[in-house]
Amino acid sequence: MIDAALSNYPRARLMTSVTPVERLERLSDQLGLDLWIKRDDLTGLSFGGNKTRQLEFYMGEALRQRADTILITGAVQSNFVRTAAAAAAKLGMSSVLQLEDRVANMGEYYHRSGNVLLAQLLGAEHIGYPKGEDEAGADGALHERAEDLVAMGRKPYVIHLGIDHPPLGALGYVAGAAELHTQISDFDAAVVPSGSGATHGGFLAGLRLVGQTAPVYGICVRRDQNQQHARLQNVLGRLATMMGFDPALVMEDICTWDGALAPGYGRIGRATREALTLMARSEGIFLDPVYSAKTFAGLLGLVEQGAIEKGQKVVLLHTGGQPALFGYQDELQPS
Ligand SMILES: *Cc1c(COP(=O)(O)O)cnc(C)c1O
Repeated sequence: MIDAALSNYPRARLMTSVTPVERLERLSDQLGLDLWIKRDDLTGLSFGGNKTRQLEFYMGEALRQRADTILITGAVQSNFVRTAAAAAAKLGMSSVLQLEDRVANMGEYYHRSGNVLLAQLLGAEHIGYPKGEDEAGADGALHERAEDLVAMGRKPYVIHLGIDHPPLGALGYVAGAAELHTQISDFDAAVVPSGSGATHGGFLAGLRLVGQTAPVYGICVRRDQNQQHARLQNVLGRLATMMGFDPALVMEDICTWDGALAPGYGRIGRATREALTLMARSEGIFLDPVYSAKTFAGLLGLVEQGAIEKGQKVVLLHTGGQPALFGYQDELQPS
């Protein structure tokens, strides 16, 4: 069913290969879990991460429309905009990246290093957007820019951030969940980040469509769990229509948890910092400060709360994002 539904959407092949699933031996011992990690930090394009899977469908549509320029908006240290610039380069298109001021009072590294540096090396054009919590406004500004390009005879394609557009990126995570299912299927719980909801929503739907019933915990990285729950309902409702499955298959299973969100989007709290260093020092794997470290902090919080029980087999989805480590040097490096 999944392959047939996905084949209705054009897809640009951007993944290098299937990503590995590994057992975290030392952390399993330390935490009393049977802990596995799906290495979607190794998706291949630029420095990898979850946006490669999502962009296969956005870029597929851009190619179908014969676009020559893609436009996308995100936080200054957005992995999505950096990966989109890489996908555009690979497919011979130009890219315009709109960077929103989502995280206040950040320094030089945040504004120049990490993903910002990489996007410049990829040849992307940068434009700024002064607000950080205005999805409709940010999309609107991007559209104005797209209209300017049309007037110049170009063919732009806008990758939308707002919730009122089809979540094409979620299709990538339906495929990602089906891929995981071929690698590991007897787990008790999965833990994933929940930002735009494309990863969480696609992953949950994909698992249910292959018959996997384990709980999927979406760890909030941007909004509180009630707002995020509503967002997931929207994403999954649209995805169900796009793929032709019954939304009842997934709606009751939306689980969002915001115990690791503080002090807010793009801000490193104690739990995030500890999760990041625990993973690095136990397994030699880097998490990123904005998403994957919060997700692992969420897993640790769920164990502490007893929602995930000792001895259970758990899969953590690593969504990449490590270039942002260099944008957060001031916050991460003890002075
Ligand atoms: C964008 C991003 C997320 C969040 O994914 P959504 O699909 O927007 O929910 C998680 N991790 C990393 C590293 C990201 O770049």
